[in-house]
Amino acid sequence: MNTRPVIAGNWKMNLNPDEVREFFQEFRPDLSSGEAPRIMVFPSFVSLFAALVAVPQAPEVEVGVQNIHWKPSGAFTGEVSGTMAKSAGADLTLIGHSERRHIFGETDDEVALKTGAALVAGLTPVICVGEKLEERKDGRLEEVILRQLEAVLPVLSEALNGDFLLAYEPVWAIGTGETATPEDASEAHTLLRDRMVQGLGEDRGRSIPILYGGSVKPANALELLQSPEVGGVLVGGASLDPASFAKIAEAGVRPLT
Ligand code: PEP
Repeated sequence: MNTRPVIAGNWKMNLNPDEVREFFQEFRPDLSSGEAPRIMVFPSFVSLFAALVAVPQAPEVEVGVQNIHWKPSGAFTGEVSGTMAKSAGADLTLIGHSERRHIFGETDDEVALKTGAALVAGLTPVICVGEKLEERKDGRLEEVILRQLEAVLPVLSEALNGDFLLAYEPVWAIGTGETATPEDASEAHTLLRDRMVQGLGEDRGRSIPILYGGSVKPANALELLQSPEVGGVLVGGASLDPASFAKIAEAGVRPLT
């Protein structure tokens, strides 16, 4: 299992194919001071091919999609299956991003079905969980994020060797400029880690990277990445600008010891 920090960019409904090509012409992180992080981008479906063609050889950039349907094919107008995304060249998929859950009404059950479909298709799911502001204020952080995790654990424990990543993204911190403190992130990640160890066993439960997402930018990336249990960052807004995403990738370089 790969334990390098993960720097992932969720481009949401931004960056058309031309803009993706321009992005990669300008994306030049300096990763020479140590071990490079894993870098991932999640373009829209229409920009997937452009991203796959334009990604640089160095640094290596993994490419995923932002959502899949749980059926492999069928009469689901406007949807894209995991097997289709894999065949089109994607290696990863976001699952259960808060915008899917809260704008498009995606349920825990659908998130579990999509997780299973991703694994069957050979895509690595990046499963997103996170509480809303009112849930946090009501003291329900633990209940909400563990419920979201527990919905996918049976699927993950069945797929014995299925590689996956988890992302903790407090909804109140997404696109708001409000960032969780490193302590907030570590607290939530520790809850998730303990539950993964319980559900998946010590070795697998400890090896899964847990990314933090929510208004990550060059100015706060290093501090977050150095916090206990933070295995990487999932970046929305700041990943659209090649210079700022490069700076965040640089924060993920691990000095050689
Ligand atoms: C996201 O959409 O996953 C995200 C974390 O967005 P932002 O960085 O813009 O808050």
